[in-house]
Amino acid sequence: MNLQNLIRPEIQKMTAYQVPESTGLVKLDAMENPFAWPDEMKAEWLELLSTAEPNRYPDPSAKELVTSLRECFGVSAELGVVLGNGSDELIQLILMAMNHDACVMAPTPSFVMYQHIANSLGLPFIGIPLSKDFSLDMPAMLAAIKKDDPAVIFLAYPNNPTANLFSDDDLLAILDASNGIVVIDEAYQPFAHKTFLNRVRDFEQLLVMRTVSKLGLAGLRLGFVVGHKNLTGQLEKVRLPYNINVFTQLTARFAFKHIDVLDSQAAIICEQRERLLESLSSFDGLNVFPSEANFILFSLRSDSAERVFDALKQAGVLIKKMGKVQGLPAECLRVTVGSDSENKLFLEKIHSIL
Ligand SMILES: *Cc1c(COP(=O)(O)O)cnc(C)c1O
Repeated sequence: MNLQNLIRPEIQKMTAYQVPESTGLVKLDAMENPFAWPDEMKAEWLELLSTAEPNRYPDPSAKELVTSLRECFGVSAELGVVLGNGSDELIQLILMAMNHDACVMAPTPSFVMYQHIANSLGLPFIGIPLSKDFSLDMPAMLAAIKKDDPAVIFLAYPNNPTANLFSDDDLLAILDASNGIVVIDEAYQPFAHKTFLNRVRDFEQLLVMRTVSKLGLAGLRLGFVVGHKNLTGQLEKVRLPYNINVFTQLTARFAFKHIDVLDSQAAIICEQRERLLESLSSFDGLNVFPSEANFILFSLRSDSAERVFDALKQAGVLIKKMGKVQGLPAECLRVTVGSDSENKLFLEKIHSIL
């Protein structure tokens, strides 16, 4: 018996998503919010958790959570909402609902899970390199849309790992040109103050995806997608009934009641981002790219990203090494904006390494 033969060839070719070990390191690699909750809020939350019933299945449609989410993010009753165990799961769910001959498109570089999940489902992925300034290469995008007629186009807004917002006019032109679904992935919306959520009503093929991960609840695993009900209703059939667990439902509702706490943490992160951008830009040898997210991409003019990454890790600071990615300059690193003290430590260490 050869069990390997049971596995589809495209799966055999893949490598599992790697998350580096981070024990004992200052973690500036995964766009997490560094701040804890105020003590009273944490105490209130623990009290609430004690009312949870882990012996019972969660509410399969998470009605109360959806209600508070609609209120918190201003999603009108006429639009549909689908919840995911993280927005990663929503990407998978959207692609699982597509025809077997569907193709998936995104600019590159962008969020790696678009390609990873397309590959895992055997759907061809077409990456269109961004322009040098990380804007969308519109002639190439529009030509590829015409030629390949993608069933789904993913656009991260702001984009990861380049940290910029694409132009509204470009996104509208893509919506206009596409016969397929256009997913605008707003994972970093808390730091960008721009959104397409209020335009979902105008476009039947538009899905706007959000996550609470970057806002400060990465451990919960909760994402949501908003779209016209005829589309979200189809996606709802693919969603597993209990994908949002009891603790996530309770905690997310609680957090949405205290959204001002998370919003003010995001505001502090935006302030810290400006300071970090300014300090990094003052170092010789770095090209620092603008950011509308909670991370900063920079490249080394004449040093190796691997060397700087390893030396930072030795010094106790974990950031992200970008490696060779189509559409990205060579020798790129990505750092998450942390707390004031974390950022200072990072700056001190990278200064001495450079
Ligand atoms: C982090 C990230 C996600 C994944 O978010 P989860 O909800 O934690 O799964 C989705 N899209 C982009 C662009 C991201 O950077």
